[in-house]
Amino acid sequence: MGQVIKVALTGASGRVGRVLTEALLGDERFHVVGAVDRVGVGQEIRSGKNNITIEPDLEGIFSRFRPQVMVDFTSAEAARANFRLALAYRVRPVVGTTGFTLADLDEFHSLCETQQIGAIVAPNFAIGAILMMHFASLAARYFNSVEIIELHHDGKKDAPSGTALKTAEIIAHAQAREEGAPNGRESESTPGCRGGCFQGIPIHSVRLPGLVAHQEVIFGGTGQTLSIRHDTTSREAFVPGVVMAIQKVMEINRFVYGLEELMEL
Ligand code: NAP
Repeated sequence: MGQVIKVALTGASGRVGRVLTEALLGDERFHVVGAVDRVGVGQEIRSGKNNITIEPDLEGIFSRFRPQVMVDFTSAEAARANFRLALAYRVRPVVGTTGFTLADLDEFHSLCETQQIGAIVAPNFAIGAILMMHFASLAARYFNSVEIIELHHDGKKDAPSGTALKTAEIIAHAQAREEGAPNGRESESTPGCRGGCFQGIPIHSVRLPGLVAHQEVIFGGTGQTLSIRHDTTSREAFVPGVVMAIQKVMEINRFVYGLEELMEL
């Protein structure tokens, strides 16, 4: 076994954070030295014989325990500040939080370049979702018309999802689309019913209780359609991708956006 990696998690009381904290606590390749949230402070998260108490102060954990990696699943606002703080302590960020602007990503990129440190931001850590995007990029070369439907639980704060935006970006790139050139906009008697439009591709966001994270990419051609669908049925789906990112971020000194950059596709 290689060197045990010291990890701190932020958003540890959240829907994804709790699942990840438990998984990493129970994985002997990692030593969880901190679990941060503003919710559930003082509560313990357990896995087997290991446990960690939720604390509110990320900087305190950085200065006391010197983690090597920070895993962040919070909100875009919190994650921006956490990313900057992590780099100031030379802690490598692995960020699953969504809702960043292109300006945020540019800033992360240049901070990593200036400080020569690795960081990974990925809008989706489910390996099946990365494959869905990859298959969509292949299909995009053969079909001009495409729409994206993304479906999430009703607690999700941003719309459309980071994965839907990333998928649209990948398809637009594969098709060398003119930015902002839509498929053709019809008149809408109910405004918004044709969805939003990103890079010329309609995106429809559904928010309902009972859902976790799902996406369907539908291509249309003469006499045929092709649907590529991915369903996350439990948040454990994100664990293998996060584990892969924690290991890879220790080996790189640059900013990586998207798990696909770490997979050999
Ligand atoms: P969640 O249940 O709301 O969990 C986020 C946690 O972070 C909450 O406990 C929240 O507290 C806490 N938090 C937010 N701001 C904070 C701050 N400034 N200081 C301390 N704690 C703070 O959300 P989730 O469903 O776990 O998702 C978290 C993020 O990950 C979202 O951006 C989501 O879109 C993204 N996500 C990414 C992936 C992926 O594969 N990349 C997968 C699923 C979700 P409050 O409740 O008080 O705000």
